[in-house]
Amino acid sequence: MGIKWQLQLLHKLQLLHKLHKGLTSRQKFARVHQTMENDMKNDMKPNEDMAKMLDETFGRKGLEGWKKSVYKGTDCGAWLELTDPNTIEMGSIVEGADECSDSHTLTFPFEGKQIWDALDAIEKECDRIWNETHGCEDCFPVDEETGYTPVNPNCKSCSGDGIVI
Ligand SMILES: [Zn+2]
Repeated sequence: MGIKWQLQLLHKLQLLHKLHKGLTSRQKFARVHQTMENDMKNDMKPNEDMAKMLDETFGRKGLEGWKKSVYKGTDCGAWLELTDPNTIEMGSIVEGADECSDSHTLTFPFEGKQIWDALDAIEKECDRIWNETHGCEDCFPVDEETGYTPVNPNCKSCSGDGIVI
């Protein structure tokens, strides 16, 4: 942690102290930390070679473009984040289930194929989670342990697709 960052943190803590009198210091610290991490992410510039490669792989330019390609290019609507200038992280949230897919981290240098492999793995995991949690009324009875209904691939009501969200 650099001195500038520490000073900034101190300043933000003092500000927050006034704003959130009811919070414990641990909660305040967590909040400040979160805002600062977001600030840092917004300022972050990806490694130029990696950016060039990602522009080509995704067919869209810049972080917002890559995010869009990942979201639109996957059935599960995966996300992409830049976690440091040389690293991207990808994952997905399954709507209506508590479980998320594992996130996959790639640190430059890597190749386009590794991105598609990671996205494939994410899609497969989302399918698995979906099938464990999104059965329709006729698929199976609710699993009492998990509180979810698994999908029955032979279900006549939903044709094995599960409920529609
Ligand atoms: Zn069904």
